[in-house]
Formats: sequence, C-alpha cells, structure tokens
Amino acid sequence: MTAVHPNHKKAKALKSGSRRPAKELCSECGLCDTYYIHYVKEACAFLNQQFDQLETQTHDRSRNLDNPDELYFGVHQSMTAARKKEPIPGAQWTGIVSTIAIEMLNRGIVEGVVCVQNTKEDRFQPMPVIARTPEEILAARVNKPTLSPNLSVLEQIEQSGMKRLLVIGVGCQIQALRAVEKQLGLEKLYVLGTPCVDNVTRAGLQKFLETTSKSPDTVVHYEFMQDFRVHFKHEDGSVETVPFFGLKTNQLKDVFAPSCMSCFDYVNSLADLVVGYMGATFGWQWIVVRNDRGREMLDLVQDKLELQPVISQGDRHQAVQQSIPAYDKAVTLPMWAAKLMGVVIERIGPKGLEYARFSIDSHFTRNYLYVKRNYLEKLEAHVPEFAKRIVGQYKLPD
Ligand code: FAD
Ligand code: SF4
Repeated sequence: MTAVHPNHKKAKALKSGSRRPAKELCSECGLCDTYYIHYVKEACAFLNQQFDQLETQTHDRSRNLDNPDELYFGVHQSMTAARKKEPIPGAQWTGIVSTIAIEMLNRGIVEGVVCVQNTKEDRFQPMPVIARTPEEILAARVNKPTLSPNLSVLEQIEQSGMKRLLVIGVGCQIQALRAVEKQLGLEKLYVLGTPCVDNVTRAGLQKFLETTSKSPDTVVHYEFMQDFRVHFKHEDGSVETVPFFGLKTNQLKDVFAPSCMSCFDYVNSLADLVVGYMGATFGWQWIVVRNDRGREMLDLVQDKLELQPVISQGDRHQAVQQSIPAYDKAVTLPMWAAKLMGVVIERIGPKGLEYARFSIDSHFTRNYLYVKRNYLEKLEAHVPEFAKRIVGQYKLPD
C-alpha cells in the first residue's frame, strides 16, 4: 500500500535568509524553514492572531476576561513560586526547565525534547535540536537571548518516527506549533513554555550589549530583574547591574525585533506549563500550571523544589502611566537619577504578581502604540481582546 503523504510535504521550506511571509514582523520561529510552511497563513502568530481558538483547543476553554488573574496570566489552574533545592550550575535561574525536561526523558514519558543549544563559536547563537539524552538537554540550559528558530526541527520529528515529544519554547514559537500540532503525527505533545519579551536578532543583541554593558564581550548571561535593573553576569562570575531607567533608550529604540514590539503573548498562553520569574520575588521562579498536562509535568519534580505561595504587593498604575511618555519620547535619565528612581521604585513599588502586571502593562501599552503607528491596518485583528482591555486602563498619546 502506498503511504498517503499529507499535503504539507509538497510545500517547500524557504531558504535561510529569504524574506518570510510575515516580512519584517517575522520572529524567525522556524516554521518557514520546514515544509509546514504550507500552513503559514493560519499558523504564523504575526499573520493570524487566534488566541481564543488555540486556547480552547489546548486548554478546553479560552481565558475568562472577567477574572483579573486570567485576564493577565491566561488560562491556569494554579500559580506558585519555586526554586530548585540544588540549582543547576549555569542555568538561567535555578534550572527548573531543564530538570523537568530531563525527568520526562528519563522516565520515558517523551522520546525527545525540542530545545535550543548554542553554536560552538558563539554562546548566544541559537542552535535548535531534538535532544534525546539528559546531556543534550543540559547543553541547552540558559537563555539564548536572541530570536531562535526552534520550530526548524519539526521535519525531523516526522522523519524520526517519534510519537511522544516535549517542546520548550517562547510564545510565538508555541502559537505556530499549536496551529500545526495535529499535522505532526504525534500521540502526545507536552509544551513547556517560558515568558518572553524584548527579544533581538543576534546583531541587535550585540548593539544592546555594547550600549549597555561595560564589558560586552565577557557577558555570559543577562536578565531584566525585579529590582528594576538589568543584571549582566560576566565570565569571571562578577555581576554588573544597570538600572532600567538609565538604559540608553534613544539608541536602543530600534534594537528590539519588530515581532517583539508587536507581541501580546508575554506569558506564553498556549503552553501547558510556564516557568519564568516575573510573578515571583527575587531569586524565585514563577510557575503557571495551565492544564492537566502542565500539572503532570510539575508533579514530576515536586521533591526537587522549594515552594512558596505567590504574593502581590503595591500598585503599578502610576508607574506604568508615567513610563508611557518617557518611553515614547525615548528619554534617558542621567545615571544618578536612574539609580535613585530604581531604588525608590524598588522600595515602594510593585512586587510579585503586581510586578508581573507592571511589566505586562508597560510592554502592552508600548506595543499597542507601535502597532497603531506602524501597522494601523492590522491593529484591530492583531491585538487580542485581553490586551485591549489591559491597554484600555491607560491614557495613551496619539
Ligand atoms: P534553564 O534550565 O536554564 O533552561 C532554559 C531553556 O530555555 C532551555 O531549555 C532552552 O532550550 C530554552 N531557550 C533558551 N533560549 C531560548 C530562545 N531564544 N527561544 C526559545 N527557547 C529558548 N521570564 C520572565 O519571567 N520574564 C521575561 O521577561 C522573560 N524573558 C525571556 C526572554 C527570552 C528570550 C527567554 C528565552 C526567556 C525569558 N524568560 C522570561 C524566561 C526566564 O528567563 C527563564 O528562561 C526561565 O525562568 C527558565 O529558567 P531555568 O533556569 O528554569 O531555565
Ligand atoms: Fe514563518 Fe515563523 Fe516568520 Fe511567521 S514568524 S513568517 S511562521 S518563520
């Protein structure tokens, strides 16, 4: 009997470097590097916003917009703060993501894990792989703070005959993945997501490091932290901190990828389980269980975690409202004032879930203005209803 090939096999992947269907809004998620480009018009996060439909497909319902926590953080069963009792050296935070992936592989729950290592020559150049050993998962630990074509390995899944898979990824990758999920021929798919915001191309990352860090070549790791500073970790283990308010916004305005300036999926709404830090206090990770598959994944590592309830303190609204024109006009404060403002905000400012809301509000208002000014024709359909409600709390400039 001749095998019936799905239609997508007739489609041809685009050559690397060629213009993608989403044009300058492309986040290089990797879908178009495969024959699944056949589905790009429906699947691409930047061509077809379809949160309601994909949330229902994934979690059996879309988020309840009248529930304030779901409005911000998406469909979920629980949120908690956690950290590994024994952190993985070299992980982004304490290595909860890598630990869950290793546990799923070791217990035979999945046969492979889509994750992203880096090339030999460049620690920040992403290299997506399907890991089949714990060592290969560990080699993917720590963020590659650049756009990463994680879905470029999708063709290999079908070729390998794998039936149970874990995919680790950020929101735009997971949106496209969910849209083609049924075509992958899998029996079981688990999705472990991280939040993501303000990502950059490799060239953009270089510009960011050079304008912000005192020693750009030795940075091994950085994060925008809850103390309103960017923390750069250097090769020698030293940590350099730069207050957000002192960032050279005039030079950095164009550094973030257009895809990230028009993204409203900061919290990775379509993952089964999300592991970030923004809703937790300093040093802790923030875990959002969205559905039963997410619960199953978290249960695997409970004995390796310290847990504590999430908290919420402060009121973000004024700080967000004030940051809107400052960003819009690309104001940079002198370093002494930036430091002072950082200290004041840290003392009296939003903490825990309120910090996460602060960050979501600041990014959604900025991104809403960006889409309005650059892609007015897309505004209505591209901005999801939850983001419109969040942005609607603030007074925006024209
Ligand atoms: P680790 O065990 O170190 O594992 C990290 C995993 O991330 C690896 O499995 C790797 O495959 C995957 N990964 C690395 N780079 C990429 C990439 N470019 N695209 C897709 N997957 C990747 N959390 C927040 O709360 N707020 C944020 O604003 C935020 N921004 C982020 C931006 C980016 C680009 C990324 C990748 C993550 C971001 N996170 C954010 C998540 C957070 O920084 C940590 O990744 C998360 O808490 C997991 O930490 P860990 O120690 O458990 O991960
Ligand atoms: Fe293709 Fe992904 Fe780019 Fe959309 S974001 S055009 S799906 S590679």
